[in-house]
Amino acid sequence: MDKYVIGIDLGGTKVEACLMDTTRTILTRKRTLANAHLGLDEVIKNIHKIVKEAAEGRNFDAVGIGTPGTYISQDDKLYGAPNSIVYETPGFIQQLRNKFKVPVMVENDANCLALAEFFASCENKYRFVLAVIMGTGFGTGLILDNKLYRGARGGAGEIGHTSIDINGRTCGCGRKGCIEAYLSGTSISRRYFDLSGNHLDVPQIYQLYLSKEPSAIVLFEESFHILGEALANVVNAFDLEAIIMGGGVSNLPVWYEENTVTRYMKNSFFGVPRGEVPLIPAKLGDSAGVAGAAYLALRELGFMNF
Ligand SMILES: [Zn+2]
Repeated sequence: MDKYVIGIDLGGTKVEACLMDTTRTILTRKRTLANAHLGLDEVIKNIHKIVKEAAEGRNFDAVGIGTPGTYISQDDKLYGAPNSIVYETPGFIQQLRNKFKVPVMVENDANCLALAEFFASCENKYRFVLAVIMGTGFGTGLILDNKLYRGARGGAGEIGHTSIDINGRTCGCGRKGCIEAYLSGTSISRRYFDLSGNHLDVPQIYQLYLSKEPSAIVLFEESFHILGEALANVVNAFDLEAIIMGGGVSNLPVWYEENTVTRYMKNSFFGVPRGEVPLIPAKLGDSAGVAGAAYLALRELGFMNF
């Protein structure tokens, strides 16, 4: 009999679910509001509702769920989800398990996105890859030797919260100089405000950059430098072969131009000859989160290996 799995992408504002078959094809995709501000019971209710819609009456054999933060199973608790604090309630995941009655696999949402994009553009081509999600934050996932690298507790890959300047800008996490404090969408807007006194969003600032507005040029040149150095740090640490770039901010074509980020990155490579380390634009758009979550379920059933 055909087997199916469910992938769930639980975000701060919405929850999305997909039904996937064992060939990794997404058959249905549904989304609704998570309504986290109404409490955990409401979130659980919305998750069940959207899974039921996505399943369209079919039975499924496993569920994968991508969440903010990191799930520690001994505590049955998510850690590091300060923007969706209700998700950190102990027992949340067990309540989902009780209802689904099939295996429920949990993974960080950036790792889910990294997995999906890795299989979309790097499978059988590159084995050591970083996926970056530049958007509301600066999330990353690491694939090392074709495996999702989780570290000792599942918390690996928080490159966005590595510091590039001990006297630098204060990050939302409290630390100084985190990459996220420079290159998330809101951080870029804030840096532009500090330079120009104007509150603009990233696409607006990009338009000014194209028209050679001086503050926008300073801002983008500094951003190329920071991103190039940040990526070189990771390449030097893990000997990576490619970098996937996803998230809203990554859609600007300027990051991929020859004389911008890669110029700084290559200048800071150290050690062995590294050759080309391409920056690859993400392919899947906003379906990557649910797809990667569903892959967790396919792996649990033995249909994928990573
Ligand atoms: Zn930080």
